[in-house]
Amino acid sequence: MATQKTVHFIIERQDSPNSAPYIEEFVLPYRPSMNVVSSLMEIQKNPVTKDGKKTTAVVWECNCLEKVCGACMMLINGKAQQACAALIDHLEQPIRLAPARTFPVVRDLAIDRTVMFESLKRVQAWVSVDGSWPVGPAPRQNPKTATTAYEISRCMTCGCCMHACPNVNSGSDFIGPAPLGQAHLFNLHPIGEYNKEERIEAITAKGGIGSCGNSQNCVQACPKDIKLTEYIARLNRDVNKQALKNIFNK
Ligand code: SF4
Repeated sequence: MATQKTVHFIIERQDSPNSAPYIEEFVLPYRPSMNVVSSLMEIQKNPVTKDGKKTTAVVWECNCLEKVCGACMMLINGKAQQACAALIDHLEQPIRLAPARTFPVVRDLAIDRTVMFESLKRVQAWVSVDGSWPVGPAPRQNPKTATTAYEISRCMTCGCCMHACPNVNSGSDFIGPAPLGQAHLFNLHPIGEYNKEERIEAITAKGGIGSCGNSQNCVQACPKDIKLTEYIARLNRDVNKQALKNIFNK
């Protein structure tokens, strides 16, 4: 009789934000088109380890299941990526899952990305509106920058670039590549550019663009192929222009 094909997971678990991590292994029957999220769902239905020990269900976060929301980012065989888009057929076994520890761990593979959302607030990564009443059609996007704006707008705040960046860590206050990319996006917007000066001031302050070491890791890590270092360089030019303007306006 042919032996059934299986999938072997080695998962780094952690019961609470401050408890010690530990490893558990799981073996699942193989099914075609499985991905890491569907495998975690199988483990959730029947949380029994490779050695037959009953355990608690592994905790992780997911939402859209189509590589848009960014919620299921975790380390898969050491690489930060989206679990919903990680096909088992493309992964070397045993498949090692771990939380992206650049962010605080909530439980098991679920992390707290608040620091990134706070940085988006700091750079005013939004377009200000006066109110909820009808204000007519929105202004046209500049056709010269629309392609760039579309590219950066695909950011899903997954945090892969933050995890890959050597300057984003618990000992640094660097806001990281994703919020800088978003600052550039909203500076390009015909309404967002009204707040460009405030954004530039926010990224010039401590922990802003000056803390970028240009390691280029973020570009390699971004699952949306956003040319982060190029846009950070453009933002740097805006920072220098603003600095000169400030000197002459004194
Ligand atoms: Fe994720 Fe790319 Fe956005 Fe960084 S820039 S948060 S890697 S989508």
